Amino acid sequence: MSAQQPYSFFHSVERSFDKAAKFTKWDLGILEQIKACNSVYQMRFPVKRDDGSIEVIEAYRVQHSQHKTPCKGGIRFSDEVNQDEVMALASLMTYKCAIVNVPFGGGKGGIKINPRKYSEYELEKITRRYTSELVKKNFIGPGIDVPAPDYGTGEREMSWIVDTYGSLKPGEIDSAGCVTGKPITQGGVRGRKEATGLGVFFGIREVCNMEDVMKKLGLGIGVEGKTVVVQGLGNVGYHSAKFFREGGAKVIALAEYEGAIMNPAGLNEEEVFQHRKKTGSILNFPGATNLAKNTDALELECDILIPAALENVINGDNAPRVKAKIIGEAANGPCTPEADEIFTQKGILCVPDMYLNAGGVTVSYFEWLKNLSHVRYGRMEKRFNENMNMQIISQMETLTGKKVSEAGKKSIVHGADEQELVHSGLEETMISATREIMDLWKSNPDIPDMRTAAYVSAINKVATSYAELGIFP
Ligand code: NAD
Repeated sequence: MSAQQPYSFFHSVERSFDKAAKFTKWDLGILEQIKACNSVYQMRFPVKRDDGSIEVIEAYRVQHSQHKTPCKGGIRFSDEVNQDEVMALASLMTYKCAIVNVPFGGGKGGIKINPRKYSEYELEKITRRYTSELVKKNFIGPGIDVPAPDYGTGEREMSWIVDTYGSLKPGEIDSAGCVTGKPITQGGVRGRKEATGLGVFFGIREVCNMEDVMKKLGLGIGVEGKTVVVQGLGNVGYHSAKFFREGGAKVIALAEYEGAIMNPAGLNEEEVFQHRKKTGSILNFPGATNLAKNTDALELECDILIPAALENVINGDNAPRVKAKIIGEAANGPCTPEADEIFTQKGILCVPDMYLNAGGVTVSYFEWLKNLSHVRYGRMEKRFNENMNMQIISQMETLTGKKVSEAGKKSIVHGADEQELVHSGLEETMISATREIMDLWKSNPDIPDMRTAAYVSAINKVATSYAELGIFP
């Protein structure tokens, strides 16, 4: 890219791809096909504002890859939306899904609006019109392309989408699977809210259980007793902090945009959250010390640093001062390529966003499966398992002549419900993905960092899929 050309997010994804592609054996043509965005739909449609004026809305849906269908990826409402950004985010979805073995191609959508500047009624009209434009061009459907929430959208918008789709496709029995991130009453799945933070915890815990990796970092095995710093107390940061604390780690500092607090004895995220709700600030939390700047938290002495707020927060300027041994990228793009190079030199392990924050899309996959099967997880087997377990206990008691305690009985008999099954599926996904990436990295020591190893894993999986489809005769 010449100096005159504006920054392109899509080109930067392509550069990371090319860096990793060198460590694969695939034909150049296959690599070119994987990189390309297969379908880009740019649309314009009018909306009548509440004051009677007509506004023309700019929107996109990009399907990066159909090596697996449907395509999958969120819809963003932001006035920063542009075609280059949607293309980049769609391609990242392809790689993210491949790494965690979620059988979807990558997609992404965007509407160029600042949602705060529109009434709820206007937003509903925009979302419904966007959905009907997607239906007209066959760009949405449970077997075609399945959107989800992203920046500026949530359960409410997903409800409008599923309702619009269903009314335009009467009788389509799987129509609830046209979008994920829906409220439970509209076909959503239990366990979605905490999924990304829980996935971050499962991924880092698996890394911490690897003896050789911990030895290299000079750390003991396991999460227990490790010190953790979390930036951002939103959905992902709050749940990451919660699961680390519950897993026996000590969350010694939390940062929000107004400041940061520290307590070497450990902080409870829920108490801090309530304090912030009451006082409007994270600062002056009882027992904790205020840090002068919120970014100071990133430079604290700790074992694990979890940036869970924004992109580019750890860069060439502050990376040399980062003292954490492990960085878990819960946010999208928190570390710049310059920071990556510094971490490699300093022997800091950066666990990349591309798979570490894949908990959301993994649980979206479970929601889609639930919609296609038309039955809640656990409904068929919960009581059956409980009855079987009860019989095993009573046989044990008869054979041994001893009684199992009531508390022991309760935990053994218990049949799993939807949330427990979703958490269990997520745990399996994150553990397998972590092991796959680490094994691949160990098998090729020339790969400079875990991010490149994750890209190599993604490229291998997508390329194998294309090759098996036989599209290159
Ligand atoms: P969120 O809006 O719920 O939380 C972000 C938090 O960061 C907010 O509380 C905000 O006040 C805080 N923040 C903003 N600027 C800050 C600063 N300078 N220092 C410290 N804190 C700051 O968003 P979220 O859903 O938790 O997403 C966080 C990140 O994780 C984003 O990068 C997002 O793309 C990524 N992510 C989210 C999900 C998901 O399921 N929600 C999935 C994958 C990736």
